[in-house]
Amino acid sequence: MITIDPVASRGRVLLVEDDFEAANLVIQVLAVRNGFEVVHTPDPADALRLADAECWDLVITDVEMPGMTGIQLLESLRQADPYLPIAVVTAHATVDVAIGALRNRADDFMEKPLRPVQLVAMAAGLVAKGRAARLAAREVVLAIGAHPDDVEIGASGALVAHRERGHGVAILTLSRGARGGAEDMRAGESAQAARIIGAELYLENLADTSISEADPTISIISRVIGEVQPTVIYVHSIHDVHQDHRNTFQAAMVAAREVGRIYCFQSPSATVDFRPTRFVGIDEQLDAKLQAIDSFGSQVALRAYLEPDLIRSTARYWSRFSEGRYAEAFEVIRDGAAVAVGHGAGQPEHAPVQAGAVRPAPDVGAVPDPQPGEREPGYTGPAPPPGKREPGYIAPAPRSAEPGQPAPSGQPAPALHGTEPGGTHAPA
Ligand SMILES: [Zn+2]
Repeated sequence: MITIDPVASRGRVLLVEDDFEAANLVIQVLAVRNGFEVVHTPDPADALRLADAECWDLVITDVEMPGMTGIQLLESLRQADPYLPIAVVTAHATVDVAIGALRNRADDFMEKPLRPVQLVAMAAGLVAKGRAARLAAREVVLAIGAHPDDVEIGASGALVAHRERGHGVAILTLSRGARGGAEDMRAGESAQAARIIGAELYLENLADTSISEADPTISIISRVIGEVQPTVIYVHSIHDVHQDHRNTFQAAMVAAREVGRIYCFQSPSATVDFRPTRFVGIDEQLDAKLQAIDSFGSQVALRAYLEPDLIRSTARYWSRFSEGRYAEAFEVIRDGAAVAVGHGAGQPEHAPVQAGAVRPAPDVGAVPDPQPGEREPGYTGPAPPPGKREPGYIAPAPRSAEPGQPAPSGQPAPALHGTEPGGTHAPA
C-alpha cells in the first residue's frame, strides 16, 4: 500500500460521496481540470474495499451515507492505513452532532458548496503531507557483521521479514574473510546471499581476525550509517568469544549512537551470557534464511556451524519464547522507536513497524533454576529418565573464559565458531 509513483499523477484520490451532483463537481475540478486521478464510489463499504486493495494519496468522504457514517468509515480507513490523509465534506456543518469528533480526526474539513480553488489547494496539500509522512515512517534496516555469513546466520530471517514489509535493508560486512577462504569467492557468496535477502551489500576489506574496536572500524560504520540512514541496526553481541565480533559491536555502539533501535544477534561463537529479550518469528522466512546461508558454498562443507540442521534447530529452540515454530533471538540495546535523530518526524503513534511476531522473554532472573530432575514451570512433557538431560539443555560454560584460555573452573574454553587455526572465525 505504499508504492506511489509521484510522477504518475498529482495524486490518487478516492471520493466517497452519495450525492452525485457534489461528486461530479469534485471530479470536474480535481480530475478534469487539475490532473488528479479520482475514483468515485457512493458506497462506504466499497470504499473500504478499495482502500484496502489499492494505493491512495487521499480520501475525500461525505459525512452521512447509507450503511455507514463518516466517523465509522474514517476510523476503519485509519486502521487500514494510518498515513492516508482523509478530508471530510458535509452539507450541514452546524447541525451535525458528529462534526466535533470528525473535526478532530479528519485531516481537513470542508463545507458544501465546495469552492474549486479551495478544493484544489486542500487536495494538493494533503497529498504532499501524506507522501512525506510515509517517507518519514519508512523503516530502513542496517545489519552489521564482521565476516561473510555472520549477518546471515544471526538475523537473515528478520531481515527478510523487514523486506516483506517494504522496509529498506542493507548489510555491512566488514571483512572479506580472506583467512577463511578465497577472498573473491567469498565476496561473490556475500553478494548472492544479499540478493536472496533483498539487501544492499556494503562489503569492506578490514583485516580478518584483526578488526579494531576503534578506527578505521568506527569510521567505516559511520560512513555507511550516513549513506543508509538506518532506523534499525542489527549487530553482533558483546557476549561472544570472537574478538572481531566484540570489536564490531563496540565500534557500532559509537557509530550508531543516534540510531533509535539496536538489536544484537547470536553468532555461533556467542557465550552463554547471550541473553536475548526480543524474539522474531521466522516461520515464513526460514527457507530464505537457509538459502542465504547456503550461498556460502565454499564454507558450508568445512564449517559445522553452517549446517542447515543446526540453523533450523537453533531457530526451533528460540521459538519457545515466540509465536510459531521458528524464531531468531536478539539482545536489545535500544528500543526507542521514534527517538532516532532525523527519523521521527511525521510518524503516527500507531505506525505498524515490527518485523514478525515479537514477544518479550520471560524474566529469567525471577525464575529459579530448576533443580536436577525438576521441570520448568509450564512444562507438560514426560519426565526424563534419571540422569538424562532436558531437551535444549546447554552445558554451563565459564562466564569469563577468554578464547584459548583455560576456564576458571579448569574446563576447556567454549568451542569457537570456526576452529581451524587462522580460519575466519578463529581468534588471533
Ligand atoms: Zn564471524
